[in-house]
Amino acid sequence: MAEIESVKDLKVIMKNYFQGLEQKPLVAWCTSVGPAEILRSFGFEVFFPENHGALLGATKTAETYINYAVKKGYSPHVCSYTTADIGSYLAGSTPLSSHYQIKGVPKPNLIVYNTNQCREVQDWFNFFGEEFKCPVVGIYPPRHLDDITKEDIQQVVFQMKRLIKVCEQVTGKKWDEEVFKEVVKLSKEATFLWQEVLKTARHKPSPITFFDGVILMAPIVVLRGTQEAKLFYQKLLNELKEKINNNIAAVPGEKIRIFWDGMPLWGRLRKLSDVFVENRSAIVASTYCNSWIFDEFDENNPLESTSLAYTKIFINRSEKIKTQMLLEWAKEYEVNGIIFHDTKTCFNNSNAKFGLPQKIKEKYNIPTLVIEGDLCDMRLFSEGQSITKIETFIEQLSEYVTVK
Ligand code: SF4
Repeated sequence: MAEIESVKDLKVIMKNYFQGLEQKPLVAWCTSVGPAEILRSFGFEVFFPENHGALLGATKTAETYINYAVKKGYSPHVCSYTTADIGSYLAGSTPLSSHYQIKGVPKPNLIVYNTNQCREVQDWFNFFGEEFKCPVVGIYPPRHLDDITKEDIQQVVFQMKRLIKVCEQVTGKKWDEEVFKEVVKLSKEATFLWQEVLKTARHKPSPITFFDGVILMAPIVVLRGTQEAKLFYQKLLNELKEKINNNIAAVPGEKIRIFWDGMPLWGRLRKLSDVFVENRSAIVASTYCNSWIFDEFDENNPLESTSLAYTKIFINRSEKIKTQMLLEWAKEYEVNGIIFHDTKTCFNNSNAKFGLPQKIKEKYNIPTLVIEGDLCDMRLFSEGQSITKIETFIEQLSEYVTVK
């Protein structure tokens, strides 16, 4: 598999980010598709518990921590980001300490969540609000929409204004719309670059796969609204364009192109990446990596545009709109098939539970496969069986490609 040089920069950026969190007097916790721009405009450094959950999954420590949360009364069927993160807190340890030489997770002055992705974040973040005795603010946009109306967005704007008031109380600063505009502009520039990075995978062969994407997306999650994120994606984009010019493929001999729906299996990234490479198959696009493209951001209309951007994300849309989006992506990236990861502890980011894979196969003639697993809890992933299913699926796609 071709190396991506920018990963070295990524390591430095992430180290600086985590070490910087310890130095900052004001820290806010936020959900991964929450209103980080408002928080940054008040001078908060922003910490994202989901990013911590992903780290617990990737370092294979999640299962141990989940047991702590289960003992505390959390169901093992609840979002394993939530249970791993709460478990890590209860255990009083985190791999962040050894990775970045920091004491641990930074204490919050304010906690903010947006239920645009799921209701689980409400319980998760309120647990920590009680533990740290700090204000918790929720944004509750209308959910699962077909069309998004002006009235829908006004509801969200109203809630954002309530958040701004709480930020003023916590920081003792007045709201400065000019600073907010600057942050939104930086977020917009970074998200457009991230989009261009993902779109390089339209090239055949693709210079990047889903397994690169889930690592390289860290800055668009945790550093939205900063120069660092923008500069990182500019450099990464240049590197990928150069790979395209030199015909360097992420998967040498790429033959099959696949779309991935659902969460990554953080504890099996390397293993699964190898399986796809060995089978000359590239996962060229995913709902997951596309979740951090906010093409509505507009610094000239900052509050409305961010409210709209965070409401219209894939996970917050109706089945009808999700189907349309999936079909458009499948066409844009010229995929041969779609793999749905039926994520056991995340109902919200799994689109295999209500017949969508069958519908796409039968009505739109795109081959689909469902594999069962989880984002963090690898006890819910039957590795051997799933790899056999994936290899059989790729074989069928290969036959179809050859016949065509
Ligand atoms: S979307 Fe899924 S994985 Fe993410 S916080 Fe909600 S339940 Fe957990």
